[in-house]
Amino acid sequence: MTEDMKPVDENDIMPFFCGPGNLCFNECCRDLNQALTPYDILRLKQNLGLFSQDFLRTYTSCHGGPQSGLPVVGFKPNPATGHACPFVTEEGCSVYPDRPASCRMYPLARAIARSRETGKIQEYFALIVEDHCKGFGENTNLTVRQWLDSQCVDLHNQYNDTLMELISLKNRMMPGTLAGFQSDQFYLALYDLDTFRIQIFDRDLLAQYNVPLSVLERIRTSDEALLELGLQWVRNQLFGLEMILEA
Ligand code: SF4
Ligand code: SF4
Repeated sequence: MTEDMKPVDENDIMPFFCGPGNLCFNECCRDLNQALTPYDILRLKQNLGLFSQDFLRTYTSCHGGPQSGLPVVGFKPNPATGHACPFVTEEGCSVYPDRPASCRMYPLARAIARSRETGKIQEYFALIVEDHCKGFGENTNLTVRQWLDSQCVDLHNQYNDTLMELISLKNRMMPGTLAGFQSDQFYLALYDLDTFRIQIFDRDLLAQYNVPLSVLERIRTSDEALLELGLQWVRNQLFGLEMILEA
């Protein structure tokens, strides 16, 4: 397989169309080696109505990043299906409304840089041109930005950017491999949300913090609020940074 990256601007026309009529339909969902982010897992486990631990056990595998020790979560390899995604069907993606960010973005790659002066995020895009994908050359008359909007990926990117900032903080403040218990804290608070919630409410995990009642009420029912708290909790546990808990 050959792969080529072509930088594009968000105002360029997206020379690409994907749909069930494409001869390559579903090809991109086979032979996967795909990392999943915490927000990807939140959406997938909600789609399937599963407890996070059951979703993780059934569909994913996790290993420690060789340099960082950070947990790397991906779909469980399945040689019997040629490593196809567990959610691909003849008709397409069975979890389409809650598919991961990388599925929404493909064939676009996105990188970001935050300005030190303004704090503003600058996005950079490139097209990933691979042999198996035959959607190129079809013109949708959408710009890259309009095509991205049609994929509803902004919320995923917001959560994923926060994760990237946490990882970059770790690399600056704590270079090298995380200790096992630190890696476990990262996994618990960001990937295994329902177990994190149980530890908060049944085992008083946040006892040392002055958590407003309104925050506790939010995280009892909202996975999104719990993930936001989890990102703060990891920053506090690993780097001693204060948790900002807005009532
Ligand atoms: S989640 Fe859906 S779109 Fe993503 S690889 Fe699996 S089947 Fe394909
Ligand atoms: S390989 Fe490309 S064109 Fe074909 S289904 Fe996947 S993304 Fe769409």
